[in-house]
Amino acid sequence: MTRAAVLILLGPPGAGKGTQARMLEERFGLVQLSTGDLLRAAVAQGTPAGLAAKAVMDAGGLVSDDIVLAILKDRMAAPDTARGVILDGFPRTPGQAEALDALLAGQGQRIDAAISLDVDDAQMVARVSGRYTCADCGEGYHDQFKQPASAGTCDKCGGTAFKRRADDNAETVGARLTAYHAQTAPLIAYYDGRGVLRRVDGMAAIDAIADDLGSIVHEVTA
Ligand code: AMP
Repeated sequence: MTRAAVLILLGPPGAGKGTQARMLEERFGLVQLSTGDLLRAAVAQGTPAGLAAKAVMDAGGLVSDDIVLAILKDRMAAPDTARGVILDGFPRTPGQAEALDALLAGQGQRIDAAISLDVDDAQMVARVSGRYTCADCGEGYHDQFKQPASAGTCDKCGGTAFKRRADDNAETVGARLTAYHAQTAPLIAYYDGRGVLRRVDGMAAIDAIADDLGSIVHEVTA
């Protein structure tokens, strides 16, 4: 890779954005930037932004653009982002997309690709409801689709503590899907209009999706 890339992963909850972003991070040295992770950290730390965001997140709604943009700008200012970023879960509204364009323009950067992980909505509730992660390394698992090889032990780091997100339950996932269609799906047309939209079959096997994404990264940074 010759130049720091700015990639966006678009898709509803359960589409695999986090899984794929972590794989791209490992493979290309890009930095995964998840506004959901940043907000969960703010909630855990009890910061003013976290306190304001918590109820909205628990209900599956979208946190206000002001809060999300402040958190995002702060993170984008860290030196490691110069290696290139994969935005996971951001932008989620047209207002956030416009603010991102302005932020990048101010830094002489631009979006290389906005990649939509196209999935079958009906299957997202099952995907999200059963997922959990290793509390130590963040490796993802699923009750139905991907259990650790040895029960109760993380395949990757050997950790034995696992955690589930508070909002990964059937009711909240429904609200999150509704929010996605109302406020985030319009960004697919927004990025298509800017000539940076790419579409990937998000129902394919994890490694096949990773290959498709890897090809896009190679292409846009060549
Ligand atoms: P995620 O981890 O991306 O699924 O996000 C979890 C929750 O955090 C979402 O359901 C929203 O409540 C909130 N959130 C994350 N990113 C954003 C964003 N870009 N804009 C508004 N709310 C967000």
